[in-house]
Amino acid sequence: MGKTTRTKAVIITIGDEILIGQTLDTNATWLASQLHRRGIEVLRMLTVSDREEEIERAIRQSIKDAELVVCTGGLGPTRDDITKEVLCKIAEEKLVFSQEVFDWITERKRQQGKEPNELHRRQSYMPTGFDFFKNNRGTAPGMLGEIDDSIIVSLPGVPYEMKELMTEQIIPVLLEKLPVEISAVRTLLTAGVAESELAQKLSGLEDNLPEGLSLAWLPGHTRVRIRLTSRGDDRQEVEQRLDECVARVRDILGDIVYGEGDDSLEEVVFGLLRKKQLSLAVAESCTGGFIAHLLTLVPGVSACFKGGVVAYSNQIKREILNVNEETLSEHGAVSAETVREMLAGVCRNFGVDTGVAVSGIAGPDGGTSDKPVGTVWVAVGGVEKQHVEKLQLNLNRKLNIEKSGLLALNMLRLFLSRD
Ligand code: AMP
Ligand code: MG
Repeated sequence: MGKTTRTKAVIITIGDEILIGQTLDTNATWLASQLHRRGIEVLRMLTVSDREEEIERAIRQSIKDAELVVCTGGLGPTRDDITKEVLCKIAEEKLVFSQEVFDWITERKRQQGKEPNELHRRQSYMPTGFDFFKNNRGTAPGMLGEIDDSIIVSLPGVPYEMKELMTEQIIPVLLEKLPVEISAVRTLLTAGVAESELAQKLSGLEDNLPEGLSLAWLPGHTRVRIRLTSRGDDRQEVEQRLDECVARVRDILGDIVYGEGDDSLEEVVFGLLRKKQLSLAVAESCTGGFIAHLLTLVPGVSACFKGGVVAYSNQIKREILNVNEETLSEHGAVSAETVREMLAGVCRNFGVDTGVAVSGIAGPDGGTSDKPVGTVWVAVGGVEKQHVEKLQLNLNRKLNIEKSGLLALNMLRLFLSRD
């Protein structure tokens, strides 16, 4: 089998609401990931207003550059929605009333105990020469046609309508019509180690990546994602090469890698607790319950997670967690000694095997020269064995809180997996 060429695509999102910053353009991101996953190269993402000349110019340019153009928005029943009219103009087609679409809309409305109105009638006009796809979540059908050897797809703007049409109906058609290169992607998730340090560890591997493999770095404020993509003509070969590379990266990075794809730290922590049959409680000062909240997001977590204390004031640290008055006055609330006692206190008082305790200065005020804003102490472990670590963060208050919470969970993960 010869080398396939990659199909090129442009994504056009249409709507004034995006350009004035009212709506976040999640459609483009989602579509890009769907196309990328199928080996289609997205050349460009454009956002244009609801004005005819803007939509027209974007589409005309895009069909020159790409074999696939996917548009979202402007298919509603109101006057500001004109994508269909513009498509007709460019394709030199006409809008014709479709009894089939109108019957479909009528049926949908009647199921909701309503009757179709004039606007639904307007929505039933479809461009000749285009295939249309019934929308199970709304009234605007999706469309697919060809203009000058490019495939053009037009979808409604409402994200859940657009997604269902795309995955259920449009993608299968695209896969039939377009030459699709075989590709496979895996994304490894790391926490607690800076991108530059990771890059050093992987530099040997990066210098000698086999043909068809690429590695991309996606840093965030707490975690770094490492995306590995394998491309080629043979599915088995593509996947095998990718699996081998993932195994090598995992080998080099060891337990710095906490998961893959959409795994979350809290899910991984829960998995470890369950495996070891351990119970957990949290004592949070500066994170104010954020860690408890993350854990609560995991389905079934009640099997291990018992609860927590937001010990924001010294009084609560003393009275509920039994932190000594002398510890607080000698070392301060943000100290190794205090988080150790908070941890021991919450483990004893909640009768659990393991815990996390956090105390820090989230900012913007409250810093001193020896404890600047962003100083956070974390203790993980139990009454007997503890691991205590200081973090020095430099973000804003909200991100300092989030990062402390996530890094504390990561410390617990490492404690549990190394124990
Ligand atoms: P439309 O199909 O243009 O009538 O869009 C309907 C609604 O979908 C808008 O009011 C937005 O809330 C939403 N929407 C439109 N475009 C996007 C987009 N690119 N990303 C996310 N939401 C969108
Ligand atoms: Mg719109």
